Amino acid sequence: MKNRVEVERVLEQAIRNSEAYKDVGKLADYIPELANVEPDNFGIALVDVDGEIIVKGDDEIVFSIQSISKVIDLIMALEDVGREEVFSKVGMEPTEYKFNSIRPISDKAANPLINAGAISTCSLIRGSSTQEKFDRVIEKIGSLSNSEDVRFLEHIFLSEMETTDINRSISYYLKSIGIIDNDAEEVLELYVRNCSIGLNVKQLAHIAAVLANGGRSLDGKEQLVDKEVVKITLALMAACGMYEESGQYLVEVGFPSKSGVGGAIIGIVPGKCGICTYSPRLDRSGNSVRGLKVLEEISKTLNLNIFI
Ligand code: GLN
Repeated sequence: MKNRVEVERVLEQAIRNSEAYKDVGKLADYIPELANVEPDNFGIALVDVDGEIIVKGDDEIVFSIQSISKVIDLIMALEDVGREEVFSKVGMEPTEYKFNSIRPISDKAANPLINAGAISTCSLIRGSSTQEKFDRVIEKIGSLSNSEDVRFLEHIFLSEMETTDINRSISYYLKSIGIIDNDAEEVLELYVRNCSIGLNVKQLAHIAAVLANGGRSLDGKEQLVDKEVVKITLALMAACGMYEESGQYLVEVGFPSKSGVGGAIIGIVPGKCGICTYSPRLDRSGNSVRGLKVLEEISKTLNLNIFI
């Protein structure tokens, strides 16, 4: 990173400016365990495509990745069964409805980055049992984050499984219209398990950096995700990654991103870097309030918008 000192300064300034929003937003307490996280935690990591990293704040805190797992679900479905099969089961269009809405489904879910779409892609991940499929997801996240410490936050998983009537309904509905071929309960379990994977901002920023690097490992030695799969994934993240705020976000921040109700956002600046913010207070769409502010400022100050 040529301008490391400058990037550090910009991150620090963006964090300071975002302090005005420290108390704005609320935790995702519809998953009871998520009401117990420390609301004031804040962390950010930026990893460039050469693997150089800058971290600020709470960079060791492990949180559930929630909807960021939808990016991995999509990548694995595309790698396992191919583009044609995936998009026969899920659409490519943004939606104005909430991430867990059952409404946008007519013949298939609007896109893979809302719950109905991710439940559909989870049903395409290969493996002879839910455990084997989940092990493959953990392994994939391990290779993309260049880390062996990929956790499963069982208390979050159990808490969501007890309360997730809406996702259960979506899963059975998708089964009834022929989108899901396998057992609806097993697909639901894999989806919620993937949401309950625990990572820190450094690991997620590393995954984002690999995607920014066209799917190549940051040491340049291995193609970890097929380039075509990366292209599709980033396009859909740009169009749909921030739910019903995706358009506004793309205008203000200007690079493919994905948020999760755990409070993290990952952003991918192709050819340059991956970024992850963590701050668990959310706006009405389920996006981290402080994360949005910080990403907007650093995008503008460091000229990271991909459209200009
Ligand atoms: N596990 C969460 C759910 O299904 C994920 C949603 C999210 O992060 N937006 O409701």
